[in-house]
Amino acid sequence: MQITELRIAGFKSFVDPQTVPVEPGLTGIVGPNGCGKSNLLEALRWAMGASSAKAMRGGEMDDLIFSGAQGRPARETAEVTLVLDNSQRTAPAEFNSSDTLEIVRKLRRGAGTSYKLNGRTVRGKDIQLLFADASTGANSPALVRQGQISELIGSKPQNRRRILEEAAGISGLNTRRHEAELK
Ligand code: ATP
Ligand code: MG
Repeated sequence: MQITELRIAGFKSFVDPQTVPVEPGLTGIVGPNGCGKSNLLEALRWAMGASSAKAMRGGEMDDLIFSGAQGRPARETAEVTLVLDNSQRTAPAEFNSSDTLEIVRKLRRGAGTSYKLNGRTVRGKDIQLLFADASTGANSPALVRQGQISELIGSKPQNRRRILEEAAGISGLNTRRHEAELK
């Protein structure tokens, strides 16, 4: 699977709908302080199912919605779409029925979040599993947040273990085991 496009609207400083193509290979995001580089990566992580306020640098989920700036009123919704190329058919079995996967995560002020996968309503957990099985995802070591290296150095052994499990690609199995134990 390969991310080919990120669409973003009403999310943090990205008020107008924008489409960001993601080419194969290394992608760099450059710009002056405060221009939205970290917000863009947060949008990516959010669409992958990130839910903790810490991962999103915010207090409340609604803080992710454009809160108004330079005479422009605040928005009521934030929406991020991730387009994945699955032509190699490497997605986990339950998501592997099409060449393109389109994940849409939406947040409505005061009304919480919802996810769609190719137009069908799914749980956040389904999206997290999709990426966990691909050994990547919102918390994966492939996405290193600003300031995260110093956090890692000072973190407890249990937290380091979680990071190593993600890197080894077994965290999806843990999530599935946890779900099975709850049933
Ligand atoms: P740096 O180079 O300092 O790391 P950056 O390019 O990563 O900067 P971001 O942290 O992505 O910048 O963007 C910060 C900007 O996003 C700030 O101007 C802030 O006001 C704006 N911002 C954050 N949340 C919202 C929101 N909910 N609505 C509108 N603007 C927001
Ligand atoms: Mg930044």
